[in-house]
Amino acid sequence: MAFCSLRSLILANHFLPVNMGVICYGESALVDYNWTCLVCNLGVDKSCDKCTRCGYLAGANSYEVDARNILIKNSESEHALDCPKCAERHLDIKYNKEPQKYYYIGFRGRQILFEILYLNIFCNKCSYKKEIEFDVPVLRKLFRWIMKRDIQSERLKRI
Ligand SMILES: [Zn+2]
Ligand SMILES: [Zn+2]
Repeated sequence: MAFCSLRSLILANHFLPVNMGVICYGESALVDYNWTCLVCNLGVDKSCDKCTRCGYLAGANSYEVDARNILIKNSESEHALDCPKCAERHLDIKYNKEPQKYYYIGFRGRQILFEILYLNIFCNKCSYKKEIEFDVPVLRKLFRWIMKRDIQSERLKRI
């Protein structure tokens, strides 16, 4: 176990995602020039590490681009980050599980039978929440279609 955590620590420190010249250290990105948001094409000032229109973090991966696109598509307000409940500009979106952990274990692809990858839209100021199915495995769709209901077993839902 000690080896594992040491290894992941080393990996986390040496394999930083590099995307279009923007080096991203976890939550905060170092950006030394004005940039264009990959999701909504807004020109963003170099002093911001997040897009002010959709919240995309400079240099984040393609799963994050997908998530932000879904946030914009599901927006009930004129501004994508405005909460429909409290009207504050504090909406955010997050996968229920890291996509890399959902699709891959180690370097091998994972066999997914029924587990759904969800995106959760939530407000940082109030209790607003919305759950969106991002990826539903074919077997789960078949089960729903044939049985006219969803899987009940919590154990099956996780495989
Ligand atoms: Zn944007
Ligand atoms: Zn709110």
